[in-house]
Amino acid sequence: MKVQAFAVKEPKGKLEPFSYELNEIGIEEVDIKVSYCGVCHSDLSMINNEWGLTEYPLVPGHEIAGEVVAVGSSVKNLKVGDKVGMGWVSESCMTCSECMGGDHNLCSSNEATIVGRHGGFADYVRGHWSWVIPIPEGMDTSKVGPLFCGGITVFNPIVIAGVQPTDSVGVIGIGGLGHMALKFLKHWGCEVIAFSSNLDKKEEILSMGATKVVNSRDPKEFESIQGKLKLILNTTNVKLDWNAYIAALAPKGKLHTVGAVAEPMEIAAWNLLDKQKSVGGSPLGSPELTKKMLEFCARHDIYPTVEEFPMDKVNEAIEHLEQGKARYRIVLKN
Ligand code: NAP
Ligand code: ZN
Repeated sequence: MKVQAFAVKEPKGKLEPFSYELNEIGIEEVDIKVSYCGVCHSDLSMINNEWGLTEYPLVPGHEIAGEVVAVGSSVKNLKVGDKVGMGWVSESCMTCSECMGGDHNLCSSNEATIVGRHGGFADYVRGHWSWVIPIPEGMDTSKVGPLFCGGITVFNPIVIAGVQPTDSVGVIGIGGLGHMALKFLKHWGCEVIAFSSNLDKKEEILSMGATKVVNSRDPKEFESIQGKLKLILNTTNVKLDWNAYIAALAPKGKLHTVGAVAEPMEIAAWNLLDKQKSVGGSPLGSPELTKKMLEFCARHDIYPTVEEFPMDKVNEAIEHLEQGKARYRIVLKN
């Protein structure tokens, strides 16, 4: 099968039409006709080879929503016509301790959808059955794509940290990931402190579920929340005053980054040990938790706030994201 896609050929390059041939489908593989694909900041980092992982030509796109068009002979959980999504990972080994324990997102043989394979800025994409997740009946396909990367990436730490409805939780950076975190935490029942560097977004941030908005770059504003937050979820990739965030954590609280912060995060040991605080991070979430997240979204009518661009306007979409103008997640439509 011939796939029509958009690819970049060099760091910081423009996306250009690109086609490639998909071999015969493997027995455990699934082919998806892409209807919509979200644009994640990780696509931008991959385009620019910020992580040294990029193989060119690169077809970005790992927030895929579409329909199954073919399944391999051993695929039992999906059939042609099913509405499905796929995110950052498209294949796990299914035999290691992590996979057998349900932590497929931690499998050391994971294949990322856009590392060494071609992603969703295309008309078709292929994945392993384990990571091709059915979209619950009745959900709006045009808005669900971002849940498969950005959504599950912020849903997972809420679960890992055991957040209770009575907790106060902070979210740093209200972009694609951060705005979905606000919506989840609001429906979780929490008090939600949004840390943003762009106070022009304040009213929108409050309407998405934040209780209070604080300037993420001005620790003086953290005074009223000292020692208060059970979890602070960082979704930015920039250097911030991490010790000031640690001070805002409650005893036993955790600063959890999902943002790929480029510079080392300097944190004084004393600030952690004094009140048993911790720092951590995580990559997306398991396929099973992705299903649970989708059920949660369907039950509470939670969707990302999306801006739609036609797939062939992908360069404009990337520029819009790069300039920090996306409100709050761009989705490309085929
Ligand atoms: P995004 O839409 O660009 O949002 C990032 C937000 O960070 C911005 O909206 C902005 O929020 C804040 N920010 C940007 N520059 C800043 C600065 N100089 N100072 C302070 N805040 C700044 O990006 P995204 O798609 O949500 O992705 C966020 C990060 O998560 C990226 O590093 C991405 O690669 C990573 N990621 C990780 C995983 C994982 O599995 N761990 C999965 C997906 C994405 P405000 O305007 O509110 O300040
Ligand atoms: Zn992503």
